Amino acid sequence: MIRTKTIATIGPASRSAEMLEKLVAAGVDCLRLNFSHGTLQQHGEVLQTIRQLAEKRQTPLAVLGDLCGPKIRLDQIDPQRAQLPSDGRLILQKEPILGNNQRVSCSFPDLIDEVEPGDRLLIDDGNILLLAEERKSGELICHCVRGGLLSDHKGINLPDTDLSTPALTAKDEIDLRWAAENQLDYLAVSFVRRPEDLQLVRQKLAALNSPLAVVSKIEKPQAITHLAEIIALSDAIMVARGDLGVEMELAQVPLLQKRIIRECQRAGKPVIVATQMLQSMVSSAVPTRAEVSDVANAIYDTADAVMLSAESAVGQYPVEVVATMNRIAAETENYLRAQPDVLLPEVAEANRTILAALVRSARSLASQFDCKLIAAWTQSGVTARLLSKHRFRQPIIALTANPLTRNQLALNYGVWSVCTPMPSDTLDMLRRLDDIVTAQQWARPGDTIVVLTGTHFAHSGANNALLIHQVGDL
Ligand code: PEP
Repeated sequence: MIRTKTIATIGPASRSAEMLEKLVAAGVDCLRLNFSHGTLQQHGEVLQTIRQLAEKRQTPLAVLGDLCGPKIRLDQIDPQRAQLPSDGRLILQKEPILGNNQRVSCSFPDLIDEVEPGDRLLIDDGNILLLAEERKSGELICHCVRGGLLSDHKGINLPDTDLSTPALTAKDEIDLRWAAENQLDYLAVSFVRRPEDLQLVRQKLAALNSPLAVVSKIEKPQAITHLAEIIALSDAIMVARGDLGVEMELAQVPLLQKRIIRECQRAGKPVIVATQMLQSMVSSAVPTRAEVSDVANAIYDTADAVMLSAESAVGQYPVEVVATMNRIAAETENYLRAQPDVLLPEVAEANRTILAALVRSARSLASQFDCKLIAAWTQSGVTARLLSKHRFRQPIIALTANPLTRNQLALNYGVWSVCTPMPSDTLDMLRRLDDIVTAQQWARPGDTIVVLTGTHFAHSGANNALLIHQVGDL
């Protein structure tokens, strides 16, 4: 049982029903629909296939929709005049134009009023570097420090400028509504800058009566400034290293990643490490040694999930890359399990709550009785999430009557969730648990299991009991 969860971004290389099934068989737990690419119709078809697959294979699969956010892009560029030399000049103008290596326009013309001389403008993931020099009626004159090839709709990052772009664009609002109406499990919010951005997303979801869980993508310096508040307001966090590495000094990304993971650990929130994890496998059947190390280190640092982007969306080896991710996870987890003291996590979450006390006691009982599994009844998933953050040596089996909880827990390290009808009493719940763990071969009759449960099954966050149960002794 591999505990680190794998997210695969779905794109042209992976959106067929046949390929989706292969990805799931290879170990994908969560599928990302990236609204920056493809149409809602295409995403809808993929979603339908995923839901059918989950049903057919009787396995939880989480679906994560990823909003584009206020990413600024160049308008169209004349391919005949697209090579921008270093040390030259480039003018950004408000008026839309077919751009060239002298003049361009972009998707957020107000930028011209908001950028100050000296601010950096990075085009195409930082390959092209401009320095703003001067503003003149509707134009921003830039010095081109590092040239390159301009092309249609390349992204522009402005790490030094506090832009007035809205947290959600008109397209994001449409995609958010679609995600809510189509009952996705997670919604990732791009370019979060401040806590208010998340409050806005929460308000929009509440207005649609949607229980979608919100993932904040950390990719802006402003988000690092407000990290603790953003983590507190999010259901999960993504270290979005692609844009983070453009918006901030690239050499800082590894340490920022460690810091974000640590803060999520303390806050008890799941954290995803994303982008270029096995990038060379877009076109090569074997990853580089550095990439393998990167994945292993993220798991070592207690990331809950690792994400594939181009590798699974447009790469030549989508199935192999998922299998590779899982092989690295299996090796790293084996090592970690043999040395539990290496990463005893410190979850600051409400040390005095009943739930926190139960989880701590579960750890000591599980080791005292050499338990095979930790099981939990969990309506909203809160018990399973807290157990997950404690990195037990035993797998966590989450039973819930809520299909959304079952799917969402597909993103939490070490948790296997199963949907079952609401039990009538504790004995009924234990009978269901025995049936499930034996049918799945997670445990055998006679094995000891620690069970977190409660007197009120239907109430979320109301667990108040710890049982030591022997499988089959009812
Ligand atoms: C990133 O920037 O690392 C990221 C995950 O976002 P996207 O793939 O949407 O660019």
